[in-house]
Amino acid sequence: MSKIKARLDITAETPILVNPRLCDQCGACVGICPADCITLDEYTLGIVGPDCIKCGFCIPACPVEALSWNETGVASFADLLKQNGTASAGR
Ligand code: SF4
Ligand code: SF4
Repeated sequence: MSKIKARLDITAETPILVNPRLCDQCGACVGICPADCITLDEYTLGIVGPDCIKCGFCIPACPVEALSWNETGVASFADLLKQNGTASAGR
């Protein structure tokens, strides 16, 4: 059975969080996203939240575990760090 489970209960505007400290902009997640809602330019990886179908394919596709479900409803990974009151959140 696939380890990938769709998380249709995730209702945040940003269903997937990107940890910019881990992302090396390899593009693997961009190529696998069936909704074409992951954007990557020279500096930034972004998820177009409203277009995300919450399939979860991108999470295991990332070789450095930079992607995760947004369990808290924050707008960005930076906001998650602020909410947790730490600058050390990573893997
Ligand atoms: S969960 Fe699916 S649709 Fe959403 S960004 Fe990841 S691969 Fe794309
Ligand atoms: S697969 Fe991971 S490291 Fe590669 S661009 Fe996507 S988030 Fe960044």
